Amino acid sequence: MNTLLLAITAFALVVLVALVLRPIQEEIEPKKEEDERISPLLRGINYLLSDEPDRALQEMVQVARLRSEAADVYMALGEMFRSRGEIGRAVRIHQNLLARPDLSQDIHLQAHVALAIDFQTGGLLDRALVQYQKALNIQSDHACALEASLRIREQSREWLLAEELLSRLERVRNISYGSHRAYLFAEVARQRFEQSDYEGAQADAARALELDVSCAPARIVEIDLALQQQDLDVAEAGIRTLWKQAREHFPLVIPSLLQHETFYQSRGINVLSELWLDGKDAELILAWVEALAQMRGVEEAQSLCDELSFIPHSLRQSLRLNAMLGKESDVHAGFARQWRKTAKNYVCEQCGVEVVEVRWQCPQCHSWGTLHPKAEEKV
Ligand SMILES: [Zn+2]
Repeated sequence: MNTLLLAITAFALVVLVALVLRPIQEEIEPKKEEDERISPLLRGINYLLSDEPDRALQEMVQVARLRSEAADVYMALGEMFRSRGEIGRAVRIHQNLLARPDLSQDIHLQAHVALAIDFQTGGLLDRALVQYQKALNIQSDHACALEASLRIREQSREWLLAEELLSRLERVRNISYGSHRAYLFAEVARQRFEQSDYEGAQADAARALELDVSCAPARIVEIDLALQQQDLDVAEAGIRTLWKQAREHFPLVIPSLLQHETFYQSRGINVLSELWLDGKDAELILAWVEALAQMRGVEEAQSLCDELSFIPHSLRQSLRLNAMLGKESDVHAGFARQWRKTAKNYVCEQCGVEVVEVRWQCPQCHSWGTLHPKAEEKV
């Protein structure tokens, strides 16, 4: 409701400017007509002040009707409908505006952007992109249109097109987005790896790591490639670098190590044990035990725990361990397993959103590399 109130207030202000503060243009119009225009506006503002946004909106529609030639009034009205969730009406208003032959270039640009936002809000991403492109045809350095198009390309996992837009945004804002670009190339590398284009994957992972040495998803692609090609030295070197450069995301590579039996038996166990002894990082051993329990069964997971004498030191660690190793008949283990399925394991340092599975881009604020594993559970 706050957005709606803001939109209506903005609308009222626009109309106030259009109707009241431009008396010179209006001099020749009869006073009676002027009163007819202002009274619904005043009623609208009154409704607004008495916290009745729906009735305020009705009055504002009346204002727009009486003032049909003013494009800015329609722009504001479109905004109001969108913030009310009435996307169809917002779209119609902006499309009607764009159909006008007498529109100034500035309003033309604003209307394309507004229509794009309508489509984007309604989930019609292709149509939104077309409108952003039309805005960019009018003003090629329109940062908002560039940024919104970038977001849509990322959402549609069109990473190379996203990278192109990021480059344009960099030039417009004169800021370097090196780390963001690294994550885009890491995504391209992962896509290529999944399509068995190993050379391409290697090149893009290297490009990402050149931009940001701590870009964990790119390092993980490199390790997966080395394991795939049975290049054990390179795989081991990659694992050690991941531990140094991006420790918090190290657990994500463990399932890959277990999938490559030769590597796991000949080097994996030793390297993981060494890293465990190095930092006694509970996240490492929990991820290891978890991967073992899932891929080889509970007994092997339990014996690893015993061998490395791991004892949980927090509620979160204890719940995770119990979810993995607890007996089927154990009620507490049952609760722990339920908790594990829905527990929010990652939190964004920018906006604070919490999510269950790892993501390299925050689903809420869209920043890259800002989601970190949660170490503790709030009680
Ligand atoms: Zn965020």
